[in-house]
Amino acid sequence: MWHWWKTRRRRKQRSLPFPAEWEDCLTIDFADWHRIEETERQFIREYLQVFIREKNWEGCGGLEITERVKVLISAQVGLMVLGLTDCYFDHVLSILVYPDAYRAPNSIKNQMGIIDDRGSARMGEAWWQGPVILSWRHSLDGARNLDSENLVCHEFAHQIDMLNGRFVDGTPPLESEEDYRQWSQTMTEGYEELKRRFRTGQPSVLRRYALTNPAEFFAVSTEVFFASPEKLLEDYPDVYRTLQKFYGQDPCSRRSPRSDRIRA
Ligand SMILES: [Zn+2]
Repeated sequence: MWHWWKTRRRRKQRSLPFPAEWEDCLTIDFADWHRIEETERQFIREYLQVFIREKNWEGCGGLEITERVKVLISAQVGLMVLGLTDCYFDHVLSILVYPDAYRAPNSIKNQMGIIDDRGSARMGEAWWQGPVILSWRHSLDGARNLDSENLVCHEFAHQIDMLNGRFVDGTPPLESEEDYRQWSQTMTEGYEELKRRFRTGQPSVLRRYALTNPAEFFAVSTEVFFASPEKLLEDYPDVYRTLQKFYGQDPCSRRSPRSDRIRA
């Protein structure tokens, strides 16, 4: 009954007129908006209609939650889940946004969550059946695709990792035993390749933080898959193709002629 009601409500929300202010935000600050096809833009418009309304948005540290904040964070999530089925992150009820990197209160330190620091200040967190916490400055940098890092993709990759339970192990829900076997083999080989590159001083588009554990390897690989796909394909082709299959999309195809599109 609840599922039926939710499906019906979402269908109605998706068909609402798309606000001109939201469209302007995407046109001005969402770099991928100009790379994706109209069918993908329409998916994101409809995704925003649901996702923005279903989440409780809280500004922290003096940040005011504006339409721009909600749209540019949600658009990055929408792009991630283009190829997934009905992935609205039902277990994420709230999104908390700080103006910049922040220091969280000690009271939440012992809960189950993944915390992403840069130095001693945090940029973001993803909690098991709890909120996602983000730095707005880093989220905006991600929307503008300023480099190969993307905080929003990183934290929501942790949430995707947690879709099959609170155990955060770098493996999202997959379809078959063979998929799990391939995932484990490819990601382990990618992890070892990253270790080898750091040991030998070879450059790597994946940053050292990915070596923290398998969950961070998945989250960092996801960031780069969306933010700098050509480099991931060049440095870690098997990791790229595994993520291409999982996310059901090929970000490299948005940045190169169609004849160069890669098929999984
Ligand atoms: Zn992380």
